[in-house]
Amino acid sequence: MTTKAIYPGTFDPITRGHIDLAERAGVIFNEVVVAISASPAKEPLFSLEERLDMARLSLSHVDNITITGFDGLLIDCVHNAGAQVVLRGLRAVSDFEYEFQLAAMNRRLDPTIETMFLTPSERYTFLSASMVKEIAGHGGDVSQFLHPQINERLNKRLGH
Ligand code: ADP
Repeated sequence: MTTKAIYPGTFDPITRGHIDLAERAGVIFNEVVVAISASPAKEPLFSLEERLDMARLSLSHVDNITITGFDGLLIDCVHNAGAQVVLRGLRAVSDFEYEFQLAAMNRRLDPTIETMFLTPSERYTFLSASMVKEIAGHGGDVSQFLHPQINERLNKRLGH
């Protein structure tokens, strides 16, 4: 049996925490699809096309990872990709409540799809894309949290 996992998120932009998680998933599953949600309600800093491009660039070193975009229900994206697993990251207890709710809702929508969680390296347990944007917005150096080209694009977008 081939196992295919969907790793969904906004990835605005993709961080080293996301990369760490995707690399770990790449070892476990035959195929991993990083599925980037359009998420217009979150008013992303980068367009979907830009986020897709940055994810491709950051994960080009992993053969069994592909990147796709989606707009709408995650479970539809899972079906379209022919995946069996939804993969999410857990950084801290604070992630748990939302993730538990999301997993329960997705199970209601399709009981055959499992949600699985991975934790990143301790180096990235505190890392979130929103915090990276906030620090960079105030002129802070976030280069240790991003692929060098993503760091460049973020600083450019923020006018630094
Ligand atoms: P969303 O908007 O759906 O929360 P994100 O792009 O913020 O999407 O995150 C996508 C997934 O990656 C989520 O499961 C999130 O918990 C996980 N994630 C984000 N940052 C990290 C990190 N530093 N380490 C591990 N997982 C992470």
